[in-house]
Amino acid sequence: MNRDGPNPSTNGEWYPFQNRGAPANKDGTLVNPSVIPVVNVADLPEKARFVVVGAGVHGMSTAWHLAMLLEQSGKGKGSDVVLIDKQGPGAGATGVACGCIRNFYMTGPLHAILRESVAVWESDPVNFGFQQVGYVSVGEANQEADYVKLHQSQNDNGYASDLYTGREAKAYLTSLWPDFKTANCDVVLHEKPSGYAGTHMAVWGLDEKCRQWGVRRVYGTEVSGYDMTNGRVTGVITDRGTVLVDEAVVVSAGSWMPIHWAWLGKSAKLDVTYGDGHQEVGMDMWTFWKLLEGEAYLPDGVDFRTAAGKDSPVLHVELMNTPVVGPDGREILDHVYWYSRYAAERVGAPGLQGGTIPIKLGPQAVLEPYGHLNDLYQADDWFADYYCAVAGMLFGRFENLRGYYKERRNGGIGAFTPDNVPVFDWVADNAFMTADSNHGYKMIGVGKLVARMLVDGEMPAELRPFGLARYSTGGTFGDRNSNCPWV
Ligand SMILES: Cc1cc2nc3c(=O)[nH]c(=O)nc-3n(C[C@H](O)[C@H](O)[C@H](O)COP(=O)(O)OP(=O)(O)OC[C@H]3O[C@@H](n4cnc5c(N)ncnc54)[C@H](O)[C@@H]3O)c2cc1C
Repeated sequence: MNRDGPNPSTNGEWYPFQNRGAPANKDGTLVNPSVIPVVNVADLPEKARFVVVGAGVHGMSTAWHLAMLLEQSGKGKGSDVVLIDKQGPGAGATGVACGCIRNFYMTGPLHAILRESVAVWESDPVNFGFQQVGYVSVGEANQEADYVKLHQSQNDNGYASDLYTGREAKAYLTSLWPDFKTANCDVVLHEKPSGYAGTHMAVWGLDEKCRQWGVRRVYGTEVSGYDMTNGRVTGVITDRGTVLVDEAVVVSAGSWMPIHWAWLGKSAKLDVTYGDGHQEVGMDMWTFWKLLEGEAYLPDGVDFRTAAGKDSPVLHVELMNTPVVGPDGREILDHVYWYSRYAAERVGAPGLQGGTIPIKLGPQAVLEPYGHLNDLYQADDWFADYYCAVAGMLFGRFENLRGYYKERRNGGIGAFTPDNVPVFDWVADNAFMTADSNHGYKMIGVGKLVARMLVDGEMPAELRPFGLARYSTGGTFGDRNSNCPWV
């Protein structure tokens, strides 16, 4: 705990949001609850046309869009959709995400996924807490070629962004933030449709839309397996009985996906073929990574606004060859990887929230309790020093931020795929999986695309590149120049 500054943290230890009390305990293990109070919850029915498992961003978006499309097309009713979660909305990664919404991906096909997703965020910015402030990414000269490619692909996909290089890049940064220190900042991309969304607000909004369109929301019910016959899921088994499935199941289990994957009879290992023909034999299908994130209060008189007085774009800076040195002159890390956004709703006062590159854990992880509650997955000790030192390296206004770091629990893990890119695909004849490789809070539009597919019977073009077949046919993603798995 620090220490040198007027840090007003008192409680707020367990949850990101203000001073909530300690969490509940089940059989000796803390329970990460829904992040919102839930009302009008349904009982588990004996039978349903569609079952969606998991009330994170993907499960709720799928259930809402499916219910809405069924009603609007006359092809069914909202109540044909049953949404099950062992806790409730936002009990997984969705409830603790940083909430950054960007399209900064070297994986070109993700640009269309983000275009569709931003359309959903824009459809109700108030109820999703969406702030369309833009997203500015900054790199060294060695990333220029990647930025040029990315800028082209974003714009080809209808996602407007501006690119600045060399002196223009530095001038653009100081036009946004006059106190920005531009050393080694050689290339800048400014995505205009991007921004951030408060995770509580988005969870409220999504749950409410499910409720309004008649989804039967079954919370506090845990799935424990799937009944399968001839490659079809015929029933979803829960601790309250089995619900028979008429048509399809969508599995949106976030970090718990590896467990559901095994229940669906899939192998934990696979051979992965890359575009250049080389093959990795016996790779793990799922690898857990731990995220490193934190928050800082803004000192009195300091804001995170632009020169024009606007809420700043989300800022992402990766300087692979620039070391980060602490106030005592010691090198903390040999590179900069830093993202931040304004986060008053999260910090409980004017503040910043952000992070750095996650840490690889391996194919196994303790999943309960999830998120901030799990002692094993708190941000590492060096993180606060690093986060604040980079803030001070980049901005004159943040040179003394360390004393304002919000000292409290902060953690979360995710299950990543073999190429760290989402898999959206059928995993049984009638079971579809939305596995976003733990960077898909922003991908709220995937549920809309999945719902359209379930109603129309055809997979939308935007989802097609994310099939499992890519691992055997050489379509594995992995074209990148970054220290980070978010590719
Ligand atoms: C700390 C952190 C910060 C992040 N920041 C960002 C960010 O800034 N931007 C971004 O785009 N992404 C971010 N991500 C990633 C993003 O949060 C996740 O990719 C996304 O929220 C996953 O959504 P989901 O719906 O797949 O899973 P989840 O939100 O994890 O939801 C899965 C749900 O399934 C339920 N469930 C699981 N198993 C069962 C079962 N057996 N029975 C019933 N229910 C079950 C769980 O209770 C849970 O509610 C972050 C992740 C973390 C951990």
